[in-house]
Amino acid sequence: MKKIIYLDNNATTRIDKRVLQSMLPYLEEYYANPSGIYYFAQEVKKEIEKAREKVAKFLNATPFEIIFTSGGTESDNFAIKGIAFANREKGKHIITSSIEHHAVLNTLKYLEKQGFEITFLPVDKYGIVDIDALKESIRKDTILISIMYANNEIGTIEPIKEIGEIARNNNVYFHTDAVQAAGKIKIDVKELNVDLLSISGHKFYGPKGIGALFIRKGVKIEPVLHGGHHERNQRAGTENVAGIIGLGRACEIAEEDLKNTEIKNKKKKLKDKLEKGILEKIPEVIVNGHPEKRIDNTLNICIKYIEGESILIQLDFEGICASSGSACTSGSLEPSHVLLALGLPHEIAHGSLRFSLSKYTEEEEIDKVLEVLPGAVQKLRNLSPFWKEKKI
Ligand SMILES: *Cc1c(COP(=O)(O)O)cnc(C)c1O
Repeated sequence: MKKIIYLDNNATTRIDKRVLQSMLPYLEEYYANPSGIYYFAQEVKKEIEKAREKVAKFLNATPFEIIFTSGGTESDNFAIKGIAFANREKGKHIITSSIEHHAVLNTLKYLEKQGFEITFLPVDKYGIVDIDALKESIRKDTILISIMYANNEIGTIEPIKEIGEIARNNNVYFHTDAVQAAGKIKIDVKELNVDLLSISGHKFYGPKGIGALFIRKGVKIEPVLHGGHHERNQRAGTENVAGIIGLGRACEIAEEDLKNTEIKNKKKKLKDKLEKGILEKIPEVIVNGHPEKRIDNTLNICIKYIEGESILIQLDFEGICASSGSACTSGSLEPSHVLLALGLPHEIAHGSLRFSLSKYTEEEEIDKVLEVLPGAVQKLRNLSPFWKEKKI
């Protein structure tokens, strides 16, 4: 296989070797079903509880408040449907933003069909949720606000603490999808005033198919998966033991890495180099997302007069993996709902390209992109009638 330059780390990350090592015994030797009453099972159960403590510490929660799930999608579904179904006597109104991940948006669209009323808040040109609109949209029958911590496509960081305060003062539950925030910025559920928070292992060097939902003690929620008495009756199903152990280790490592200025500076420096290089070498490029309030691994741009997808194909020839938006949108002809919510016209939104770096990204990889991309763009632009007329 050709050397891969992987710059699609908001879609998934390479597992950290230390995470993999921590998991292996639980795929091989310690295979007992943790629900067993014999010692062999209890040993496994004990390790699950240790992993729960690690996840809790990472979020500044208590272990009691952590439920393991199959990932970000399930955590979002659980939080939203769980609150909706448990609190429908109080009301049927839910508030969210127009730039959420599809795991949140489509769950809410499903609830809309079930008779819930959803308000989709607008965002400004950087993707920051309109706080005044949020305040105005809260009603007597509002039961939940769900707004993401960091956006997966453009990287914008939302004012979660402020939104949490508003939710609390109005006695409304607050959920945040922190899947893109975990491992990139500090998460403290106490400081943020959140009641529910989703994370997913594979977005921060953990394994795929494991995640967690923080549910603050006292929150009224219904399970979504029914079955056995796992996870204190909140989430049925035999535990993904190796995944849980891996998630615990990934949280531990993420906590260390967040304090490691070397890792932080390297990633930021490479992202800045990529951004600066692209703007210098390619005319008519727009950078999306907030200039400062942005996770520092994400660069989303619109290259005018071409389609993001056609650039992706050119990059793919060179072994460079990037994205034209979210993994879930690719394959559809509609431009990203996030970019449209920023107010970008369709023609420009179609030219979007997302590079997302990891702690493993190397300078040569960025240099290679800067070497390949300008030529690829020029080639495609030469074929575009719009480029010659500069119509947009
Ligand atoms: C990836 C992602 C999800 C979905 O997580 P999975 O573990 O892949 O199901 C949800 N929200 C955001 C913001 C994401 O980036």
